[in-house]
Amino acid sequence: MRVVPMEYGKLLSASTTSSLWNPRRKLLKAHNFKFRIEAQTHRTSQVGIAKPTNLTHLDIQGFDWPSPTDEIPFWKKQFPSWDVNSELPSQQTKDSKLMDIVHVTAEMAPIAKVGGLGDVVTGLARACLSRGHTVHIMLPFYECIQKHQINNLTLITTYNSYHDGNWIPTNAYHGQVSGIPVIFIEPSNQFFKGHQVYGGSYNELEAYLFFSRACLEWMQVTGTQPDIIHVHEWQVGALPILYWDMYHYLSLKKPRIVLTIHNMEHYGECRQEQLSMCGLDGSLYATFDKAVDDRTVGHNPERLSLLKGGIVYSNAVVTVSPTYLKETLCSGWLSSTLLRNHDKYFGIVNGIDTTMWNPSTDVFLPSNFDVKNSEGKKLCKYYVQRGLGLTSGDHLTETTLKVPLVICITRLVAQKGLHLITHAIKQVEELGGQMIILGKASDHRVEREFEDLADSLNQGPSIRILLMYSEELSHLLYAAADIVLVPSMYEPCGLAQIIGMRYGAVPVVRKTGGLADTVFDIDDQSNHEMANGFVFEGIDEASLNFALDRAFACYRNKPEEWNCIVKKVMKMDNSWNITAGKYIEIYESVAAS
Ligand code: ADP
Repeated sequence: MRVVPMEYGKLLSASTTSSLWNPRRKLLKAHNFKFRIEAQTHRTSQVGIAKPTNLTHLDIQGFDWPSPTDEIPFWKKQFPSWDVNSELPSQQTKDSKLMDIVHVTAEMAPIAKVGGLGDVVTGLARACLSRGHTVHIMLPFYECIQKHQINNLTLITTYNSYHDGNWIPTNAYHGQVSGIPVIFIEPSNQFFKGHQVYGGSYNELEAYLFFSRACLEWMQVTGTQPDIIHVHEWQVGALPILYWDMYHYLSLKKPRIVLTIHNMEHYGECRQEQLSMCGLDGSLYATFDKAVDDRTVGHNPERLSLLKGGIVYSNAVVTVSPTYLKETLCSGWLSSTLLRNHDKYFGIVNGIDTTMWNPSTDVFLPSNFDVKNSEGKKLCKYYVQRGLGLTSGDHLTETTLKVPLVICITRLVAQKGLHLITHAIKQVEELGGQMIILGKASDHRVEREFEDLADSLNQGPSIRILLMYSEELSHLLYAAADIVLVPSMYEPCGLAQIIGMRYGAVPVVRKTGGLADTVFDIDDQSNHEMANGFVFEGIDEASLNFALDRAFACYRNKPEEWNCIVKKVMKMDNSWNITAGKYIEIYESVAAS
């Protein structure tokens, strides 16, 4: 663990920010999961250290295997160092025109990650850094951020930023996370306090309105003028409006704005008087061509959509896959706005950071592996099976390893196809496989439903439902899995299938959004070259069964073909190397000359 920098240590004792110091609180909360285990021995082994990888030569008695009765679950053991990721992805050539890019975002992996947004911001920023660009991320200084994951955290600016008639004293800190310079914005009010990124006991919309303005205010007071301000999602949808209608008339002239929409489910519904809290006259934006939420037209009062305002006021708008772009032009409340702005609307499929997601170096794995030497994957599978009690006894048998292991790692929300996830549990059991779900629900009813399922199934021989968020466990599961299931109702891009493939798990997905752009059916003879998984189209159980059945049949009956698919998916280049270039083209096309 890294030592907290002196500057920050001093600040803690000298200011009221001491309540920020709560490392591990988030993890402890995550520990409250529904897989009941009895306390037994306490093991302190380190995982992630190179271990023998050939199972046939492996003395499994000598290996420190986890058990469901371990007091400390295997994914919480002491891992070498979290910050393996400060090394940037290797990039041979630098771009010819170098730009200054600032991302403004509500999430960033790994310190403030809830879903794919955090991965994408970090991955894209690192890819652009490695191409030679200057990149910063601006992030709210959430109370839940674990400070030991930030390098050289230093207070750099104290300033005031406007909110609802008052100027709020605000601190800006600078630190390095995963090799990226980050500016943390910390208001002195209650905003961003709490144990998690979202769901604190403050008004989230107002907090993000404050944050949007506070980022521009910081640029103004420090004279920072990047070429590109890249905003993400509805949370900072007001920033493009604030920029063009306020700060551009003050001192900020150079920046141009790019908005990425990662998911159109949330429009950023906003009352006119709430928008006024950030210093704009909210009533001026309640028009069809600006930010009125089209669903509320004709109602009294008409409301605003921050996402719509962001689309209208940004110089370019990107969404995270070409198919999702088409889907969003055809349906949804924003389709007419997007159609009107079609010329500046682009679909770029997300990449993954292949340095951060790398089975050959991943510090969370008991054994590393790659496409040439995949024996370590077997060890990871057995390790997870042992740790979760999915083996019969302590002896490694061929049968244990041969059981197809399906994983599903997801936020448990309707979008992700909850009815198909619960159906998959039954189907996998019936097919004689094993399934592990790692998921977190924000809705209490969904949480209860999955808790009930966990209570009835987690003691059995084949299903484990782990209701928590754990980055470490997600790495272990991707490495252990034979199949990664993503049965989403809609999916703007989806990262689980891309990460799964990198770790040798074959995807079974529903054909929608970015899943349709990244997974192609093995049995589609017309697209043999791209074929890399099992795809279904319907939202019914029979459609899912059809894909799962074919995957199981291939795994069991055609092991050589299966191994070829595993090798193929591991070799695919889904890194940011390719897709970051498309973002750079967009940055260049909008940057002020
Ligand atoms: P979304 O952004 O809609 O949540 P994505 O597939 O784009 O979906 O990204 C999800 C990211 O969050 C992936 O990196 C996935 O591994 C991770 N993730 C989702 N749920 C969990 C969880 N319960 N624990 C750990 N990681 C999770």
